Amino acid sequence: MASRPIQILLVAAHPADSFDMAGGTLAHHVDQGDSVTAAILTTGVRSHHWELGEQKRRAGADLDVEQFVAQAVEEKLEEVRRACRTLGFDDVRDLGFEDDDVLVTQDKIDAIAEVIRAVKPDLMITHQPFESGGFKMHGSTGQCALYAWQQAQGSGRGRQERHPIPCIYFMNPMAYVGNDSLEYAGTARADVYIDITDVIDKKVRALDEIASQYYGGAYARKRAESSDGHYGNKALVAYAEQFQRFTPLVRYTLPITDAELARITEPQSAHMGRRSEMVGGLMPLPPDASFTSRHRMTKEMYED
Ligand SMILES: [Zn+2]
Repeated sequence: MASRPIQILLVAAHPADSFDMAGGTLAHHVDQGDSVTAAILTTGVRSHHWELGEQKRRAGADLDVEQFVAQAVEEKLEEVRRACRTLGFDDVRDLGFEDDDVLVTQDKIDAIAEVIRAVKPDLMITHQPFESGGFKMHGSTGQCALYAWQQAQGSGRGRQERHPIPCIYFMNPMAYVGNDSLEYAGTARADVYIDITDVIDKKVRALDEIASQYYGGAYARKRAESSDGHYGNKALVAYAEQFQRFTPLVRYTLPITDAELARITEPQSAHMGRRSEMVGGLMPLPPDASFTSRHRMTKEMYED
């Protein structure tokens, strides 16, 4: 922990990325007096508003999506602001790029660099730049953020301020790594886990706000188990978020915590019990939500 409060900047590709990969960690930082700004590169409506996708599926080319997008942008930002407030911060900045414009471009880099100069973060969190082999908005956002980091620490142009960010983490680096597609491990590695068990309820309530992506209710609880719970299982706790350092860790001695030392003496039952907590069973669903099995594929649907 630094000797003064720090300013964190999270650079997200889509609105919900501002908290759904690192929100528990951000809640911990806010709790210890740090400040958080989330900069969202794209509006996320074209790719992440399921009602628009549903209308397009039914109407095809007859649906002009522009009116829907124009109306939904503010609604989507508002639900993300509510989610972030649940986690303790409300500085959420919309950089306003279209989410089907997926390439690394100078205007996106410039926009992120401008936020870096304005916010002056001590620590930046963004996407792993080669997520999904780099062929996705998350990857290109991570790349834009790194180019912006370089731009902001340079001398700039005219009277631009200079701000070097000393510490960068990639969030959820292994989330899309598999061996069945282009999503090979590449440069991704998880080297820091943050135990978010004490704030998992806040994160589930934040996910409950994201109605436009149907994240609320049953999915919020399932996601907590299958994503944060999966990482928790690896870290021998109930719920965790996963990060990869980009800038190297420089310390006077090698870091080791009491939590690690406790593993020497604790019985096997302790870490198994710790990992077995289930938020889905503990947190009530919103009134109109339910767990259901009625959308299952049938055995017949898998026949060749
Ligand atoms: Zn995303």
